[in-house]
Amino acid sequence: MAEESRAVESKARRIYDQLLEEYGEPEWKPSSSGFEQLIQTILSANTNDRNSGKAFEMLKERFAGDWDAVRIAPLEEIKDAIRVAGMYNQKAPHIVETLEILYSEEGTYSLEHVRDMAPAAAQTYLQRFPGVGHKTASIVLLFSYGMAAFPVDTHVQRVTQRLGMSGRRTSAEKIKALWEEMLPAETYFCLHVNLIRHGRTVCQARTPRCAICVLQDECNYNMRLGDWEGTPPD
Ligand code: SF4
Repeated sequence: MAEESRAVESKARRIYDQLLEEYGEPEWKPSSSGFEQLIQTILSANTNDRNSGKAFEMLKERFAGDWDAVRIAPLEEIKDAIRVAGMYNQKAPHIVETLEILYSEEGTYSLEHVRDMAPAAAQTYLQRFPGVGHKTASIVLLFSYGMAAFPVDTHVQRVTQRLGMSGRRTSAEKIKALWEEMLPAETYFCLHVNLIRHGRTVCQARTPRCAICVLQDECNYNMRLGDWEGTPPD
């Protein structure tokens, strides 16, 4: 068992190294405050970065950056401001509820207090907010605070499954736990960004470009059969 887990860890390390060589090391710098990242991530569900970014800017512009004003505004006004992000009937109440929680518990619209929490406790804390699952919580922790959390989106999930680092149908949340067990925290940001790059440009959902893939030797996916050889179905 120990030998098996050593083999898996060393495969994880090779994948990390090969992606690093291919795409380089992305620079980590805090993208925005954790609070703003949380609101932006709520807005980003089921839309692209451009639309969610636009919705965030429009929300700030409409209320002149006054989050108190957003909290007490009629829901229809908030929906109108974030319309471009889609799903505004769900996203607007989620934003208001988030503001209500922070206002009543912290008296301020900030998540700076999560810096003092252990990563697992911070993850659980953030997942109390409406519409926040493991991915959003991990993004806030990793991107805003550089904390040990590995976000798993659809690209990371697909590439991980094809490589045989998880079962074929392993959930995103389980995959998050697997990578966090296999590699040290200092690799999370780089691996997360590079797996997404790889999923977008090479290991695409419908037609993976296996012939040019640097991970061919590590991969369980058989392009000819369109199946995951040797990867447990879960
Ligand atoms: S070999 Fe193909 S399926 Fe495997 S990671 Fe590369 S592109 Fe994806």
